[in-house]
Amino acid sequence: MVIVGNGAAAAEAAMAARGAGYRGSIDLFADNPHPPYNPMLGTYFASGAIPRQMCFPFGGPEFYERYGVRAHLNTPVALLEPSERRFTTADGAEYTIGPASSPRAPTRPFRPCSVWSRRACAGCARSTMPCD
Ligand SMILES: Cc1cc2nc3c(=O)[nH]c(=O)nc-3n(C[C@H](O)[C@H](O)[C@H](O)COP(=O)(O)OP(=O)(O)OC[C@H]3O[C@@H](n4cnc5c(N)ncnc54)[C@H](O)[C@@H]3O)c2cc1C
Repeated sequence: MVIVGNGAAAAEAAMAARGAGYRGSIDLFADNPHPPYNPMLGTYFASGAIPRQMCFPFGGPEFYERYGVRAHLNTPVALLEPSERRFTTADGAEYTIGPASSPRAPTRPFRPCSVWSRRACAGCARSTMPCD
């Protein structure tokens, strides 16, 4: 899994993935050197109402380790090419985004109507019906 940015959405995404049991790799690319930051708290810090560390509500740099996130800090994503399944960081490194898997159905000796993928809701519903 790749996460671009390290704001609240990014932090919540990593936490939700781990909370749901995702054990794969999480690579996070951010254009800054910080732990996940909430910009709305910056004004409170600027006015002296809160100390700087309170701008990082998800914790300090240990956040990344706690959630098994490989953080590529100071590494802005410069180019996103979804159709090419590719993105490029500002330092010129190119990354390929792996496609989601798609099931391959056997053709024989099954009758086509008896093989339905359960990845899509429609296939799941169809598989509960009798074969014609
Ligand atoms: C002054 C202020 C006050 C606010 N007050 C409130 C409020 O009272 N209530 C409320 O609900 N919301 C408020 N908000 C809005 C709230 O802070 C945002 O909606 C929320 O933080 C958005 O979170 P996010 O993770 O989606 O985006 P962001 O926090 O913007 O995170 C985006 C992240 O992506 C990184 N990034 C950007 N471009 C790249 C790139 N090319 N490569 C790598 N990384 C990149 C950024 O550095 C950042 O870490 C306020 C915002 C501000 C600025």
